[in-house]
Amino acid sequence: MRSGFLPFSQPMLGEEEIEAVVGCLRSGWLTTGTVVKEFERDFAAYVGGKHAVAVNSCTAALHLALEAVGIGPGDEVITCPMTFAATVAVIEHLGGRPVLVDCEATSLNLDPSQIEARITPRTKAILPVHFGGQPCDMDPILEIARAHGLAVVEDAAHALPSRYRGRMVGTLGDITCFSFYATKTLTTGEGGMAVTNHDDYAERMRLMHLHGMSHDAWKRYQQNGSWSYEILAPGFKYNLTDIAASIGIHQLRRCEGFHARRLRIARDYTAALSGRDGLETPRVADERGHAWHLTENLDIDRDTFMRRLTAMNIGASVHFIPAHLHPYYRQKYGFQPGDFPNAFSAFQRIVSLPIYPKMTDQDVDDVIGSVRTLVEEHRQCNVSSTA
Ligand SMILES: *Cc1c(COP(=O)(O)O)cnc(C)c1O
Repeated sequence: MRSGFLPFSQPMLGEEEIEAVVGCLRSGWLTTGTVVKEFERDFAAYVGGKHAVAVNSCTAALHLALEAVGIGPGDEVITCPMTFAATVAVIEHLGGRPVLVDCEATSLNLDPSQIEARITPRTKAILPVHFGGQPCDMDPILEIARAHGLAVVEDAAHALPSRYRGRMVGTLGDITCFSFYATKTLTTGEGGMAVTNHDDYAERMRLMHLHGMSHDAWKRYQQNGSWSYEILAPGFKYNLTDIAASIGIHQLRRCEGFHARRLRIARDYTAALSGRDGLETPRVADERGHAWHLTENLDIDRDTFMRRLTAMNIGASVHFIPAHLHPYYRQKYGFQPGDFPNAFSAFQRIVSLPIYPKMTDQDVDDVIGSVRTLVEEHRQCNVSSTA
């Protein structure tokens, strides 16, 4: 057994990030300013989008995106239960109604073949979630959206960088939302980005992300700026700080390197763990790129497995508790666990293993060794293997 505990996730921060933060503190300008502008420019160029609006979380980006495409009271937004609670909560914030469509059993992404049956005259948008960084099958989703005049807002919290049929996630739907939370593929501590090719959506999100103010603070405090401003709409307080953006600029430069390392770990996991009785490793559709962020499926009692893994000093997690199982949504919409059978079945069996660039080869071997030991022991005890 390994001696120290291996956390489920750890950020990869170097001297560049530390020096950039110190530089920002010394500059005297802490909140949204030129560093955020630079981060937005770099990010838009990297994913190939026209506009990038930096905000303080992916949740904020999703909220602004749905507001910008016009979601209001009574509007329906089609999304997937296999996601983090924030994806669904932002629909509720705007008075909209989340309409859940089950995920595909293998990719755990929104199943395009089930979307059309759920479209009503109140449907306004589709909100696909790129589970574990593997892009949803976007061509049929975009086609359905076009045919019915629906907006497509993507939850790409795990999908940086990810490609779908050669195109970067960030250039596919109307607005794409990324997360820079501490456990995501790139971090600014807390942060997010909304990327769009539409000038009007970008303008609306810029307005609403800082109080609905006609000028942003940075412009107002410039020597040639004006102190005056007007409130054009009751906006939110979702701006990113220059402190956070100074971390993000350096993280972004290392994004491809981080990706290559995660890919390598995923390959090692797949090679060592696939084809074993009782284990199912993630499947990646050939024509879709994958950011390899999360997940190993297991066919044994999940909660026991997690407890044992933790006792063996390996941190693990579960992504996700499907939205329809949470009390608020169960009570409000009368959901039953079996309403979305693929999401429910995956939830009962799924375990996310550590996969981050800071892991050493020894860390990866320790995870593999512990998982193998558990699966073998489990079979010996004959607890509940269904394989
Ligand atoms: C992490 C996550 C979010 C929320 O991101 P924040 O930046 O923490 O707001 C949204 N959706 C999914 C799928 C996530 O994993």
